[in-house]
Amino acid sequence: MGNGTDMGEMDNIWGQAREELQKIVGADSFTTWIEPLKLTEVDEGTAFIASPTRFLSDWVSRHYSDEILKVLDRLGAPVHRLSFETRSQPSRPAQAAAPEEPRRAAPRAAAAEEELAAPLDQRFTFDNFVVGKPNELAHAAARRVAEGGPVTFNPLFLYGGVGLGKTHLMHAIARETQLRQPDARVLYLSAEQFMYRFVQALRDRTVMDFKELFRTVSVLMVDDVQFIAGKDSTQEEFFHTFNTLVDQGKQIVISADRAPGEIKDMEERIKSRLQCGLVVDLHPTDYELRLGILQSKTDSFRVQYPGLQLAPGVLEFLAHRITSNVRVLEGALQRLFAFASLMGREITLDMTQECLADILRANDRKVSIEEIQRKVAEHYNVRLSDLIGPKRVRTVARPRQIAMYLAKQMTSRSLPEIGRRFGGRDHTTIMHGVKKIEELRSADRSLAEDIDLLRRLLEA
Ligand code: ADP
Ligand code: MG
Repeated sequence: MGNGTDMGEMDNIWGQAREELQKIVGADSFTTWIEPLKLTEVDEGTAFIASPTRFLSDWVSRHYSDEILKVLDRLGAPVHRLSFETRSQPSRPAQAAAPEEPRRAAPRAAAAEEELAAPLDQRFTFDNFVVGKPNELAHAAARRVAEGGPVTFNPLFLYGGVGLGKTHLMHAIARETQLRQPDARVLYLSAEQFMYRFVQALRDRTVMDFKELFRTVSVLMVDDVQFIAGKDSTQEEFFHTFNTLVDQGKQIVISADRAPGEIKDMEERIKSRLQCGLVVDLHPTDYELRLGILQSKTDSFRVQYPGLQLAPGVLEFLAHRITSNVRVLEGALQRLFAFASLMGREITLDMTQECLADILRANDRKVSIEEIQRKVAEHYNVRLSDLIGPKRVRTVARPRQIAMYLAKQMTSRSLPEIGRRFGGRDHTTIMHGVKKIEELRSADRSLAEDIDLLRRLLEA
């Protein structure tokens, strides 16, 4: 490598490194810490990494240096040192204003103000957020908060599983608020960052400054608040900050991966405060929403990959098969488009299956044959033992065939394997059952609806 490495190559290595790192650090930490970074150069064993804030590079170099070095090494970029450069990206949106890094007797420089807030992702706007049944309430509430005006519910508490759009909505609120009220001090940060800053303030004996800084914001947004559960002094500080801001009529937006009442190791009084405003959940995506998101992402990718050819049915296939979360869906689409553009080929169903085999498999594994059997038995009100056992009466036989059909559709198990799980039946019996349901499905509306419902329940 050395000098003259072109940006394309850096992007390529970094792209692969990011995928590896995401697996190592987990999706949430990845989004918070690694995603905003960019590898700019590798020279004589040093990797130069651009970071939007010093705070971020500080944290990453303390916590993730080893991982980054190892991954780069494995990818054939032998480095033994990381060098971070702080670069404010001119194309970034109105940055969430943030208090300075709490430092004794430090002047409040504008540059330092950026240090505390997490950078906003440009792509996370209301315009780019696809609204469907599972997220319409959360979206409406977020819009309302972003409009400003008198605070009607405080806090707005958004919760839902990973990758369902919580962070996206929070960034959208931050951005929109900043556009509408340029003077407002909007502070967006993850609970992990809140804790980190607080611990740092304790260590540096600057807790008074820390308190002061938080208490001058107009809108406070804390992402993934479940993170501070069990961390007593941080919880305590968060509680005080929260109360002070609410008393002053400042808007607070919180997100978590579960409802306030269900956060373990969170103090009761905090839980009940968190429930005081509006609590809305983002439901798991449904097929329509996934398809809508895929269509919208495809439109935006077309700019990046002009001349892209997409066979009919590919997006529908993905919406059916990748049900875990939107982040995975997006990643799959991105990989598919990159692959197709490299190969200069049309994206067909075959290519999709080949290129995304690992993701498709991982999504399959989510539903087990046992779960399918249990849901189907429950739905048709038959005993699980009867569903699997030898009874031939129609009231049992039909649900059994439906379970076989779903097992074939929703898992990657082979027919003989499925047969074994259905009381040791032969694979031809399974094949017959699957065929039978396929036929009935197109003729019998209510059966088709039943199957869709079961599928949705199992995917949720
Ligand atoms: P969470 O914070 O709930 O884990 P994120 O907000 O980080 O999830 O969303 C994960 C990814 O999915 C992001 O890239 C986000 O833009 C995208 N995403 C989620 N929901 C939607 C949606 N309704 N429309 C468009 N993109 C979405
Ligand atoms: Mg998030």
